Amino acid sequence: MKYYDKLVFELSKPGRIGFSLPEGGADLSAAIPAGIARQSELGLPEVSEVDVVRHYTNLSQMNFGVDTGFYPLGSCTMKYNPKINEEIVPQFNGIHPLQPACTVEGVNEVYANMDASLAAITGMKHFTFLPCAGAHGELTGLMLIREYHMSRGDLARTKIIVPDSAHGTNPASAAVCGLEIVVVKSKENGLVDVEDLKPLLGPDIAGIMMTNPNTLGLFERDIREIAELVHGCGGLLYYDGANMNPLLGVVRPGDMGFDVMHLNLHKTFSTPHGGGGPGSGPVGVADRLVPFLQTPRVSGFHGNFGVILRAYAYILMLGRENVKMAGRLATLGANYIKESLKDCYKLPIPTVCKHEFVFDGLLNDNGVSTLDVAKRLLDYGFHAPTIYFPLLFHQAIMIEPTETESLETLDAFIEVMRKIAAEAAENPEMLHSAPLTTPIGRPDETTAARQPKLKFS
Ligand SMILES: *Cc1c(COP(=O)(O)O)cnc(C)c1O
Repeated sequence: MKYYDKLVFELSKPGRIGFSLPEGGADLSAAIPAGIARQSELGLPEVSEVDVVRHYTNLSQMNFGVDTGFYPLGSCTMKYNPKINEEIVPQFNGIHPLQPACTVEGVNEVYANMDASLAAITGMKHFTFLPCAGAHGELTGLMLIREYHMSRGDLARTKIIVPDSAHGTNPASAAVCGLEIVVVKSKENGLVDVEDLKPLLGPDIAGIMMTNPNTLGLFERDIREIAELVHGCGGLLYYDGANMNPLLGVVRPGDMGFDVMHLNLHKTFSTPHGGGGPGSGPVGVADRLVPFLQTPRVSGFHGNFGVILRAYAYILMLGRENVKMAGRLATLGANYIKESLKDCYKLPIPTVCKHEFVFDGLLNDNGVSTLDVAKRLLDYGFHAPTIYFPLLFHQAIMIEPTETESLETLDAFIEVMRKIAAEAAENPEMLHSAPLTTPIGRPDETTAARQPKLKFS
């Protein structure tokens, strides 16, 4: 262990300080009522300024982010977030959501232009920018679907169809919205089974929630037929556009027949995410749902403007032609990795993928699990892919490289994945105890989650 890997409490020396205040400064003790004044020492570490700086600097370097390395976390679209976005946002820090509209014309213009840009990209009519994340957008969109049916006196539509491959937030949002979830199965090839869908349709169906490409990274080729069937029974189609990345400038959900959708600006439109926020999940609607979009019901003020602004900067920076390239390159990168590794890793669905794809563990696993592979990747300086999701496969490894990685980075990742496959054959024991070089090895994840030790005692 390096000296500065020590906790700041372990560096503490009684009496050491990192500040100096004028002699005889203000005595505030009289200002604090006796009943709430602290009775014991505060218990802060006593360290010098440089110890504090090293403590926090070292902590920051123990983190992993898109700015430190390749981050192929499937379904999360960890693309690089251009720094120009961060340059622009602080210039809007001085505004307040309650100031008169006539003083924030520029902000209104950003919203109007974003509405038009996203409408052009998705084929929707208009967007609301209130939802603060993807799941929040799902809930908003489902509420719009419910409003639509209720406005027509169509009160029996209490069920929503969700494919078995859906992202977990889909059924969760539907349940929060008070809808009953009906699962439609996928076929062997990973696509929604139209024959399984048909008997589910009826006058009690509010609609269907779909992701296209789905969570396996596969394009639902039967989407036109599915749209006709669902519309035919009076239901609406909800598009989970969190993973819109590969379709950017190529295909539009509106043209596929979707009526309402959300986008994750914090995935597809390159704003920083992870660690819980902030995000933005604008919801777009087709013509017939526009009247229901008006009132702000799901959050106060105008949504997460800083995120919307970053996404706007990203769209302007790329321009129409390069937006098209983003989706195509993301698709190319994913297929390149898939084809380069399928002789070492089990590829359950060997078709062309979109932005991501799923391996089902090692081809010759020798007792080495997906968890072992993911942990070993950390030793080689790469973030692990998404693992054990989607649930359709037992050893799922879900890889999404995104378009912002160079061919050399993809090759380096492929080489390491091949090396791990070779290690699995030669030394499986070592892989069971990976990672070997990170500050924390392999914690017992159940205990770490149930009884986390969060403070120094
Ligand atoms: C990330 C994701 C979501 C949820 O988005 P949040 O912003 O995390 O709420 C929903 N659906 C899909 C397909 C996703 O990848």
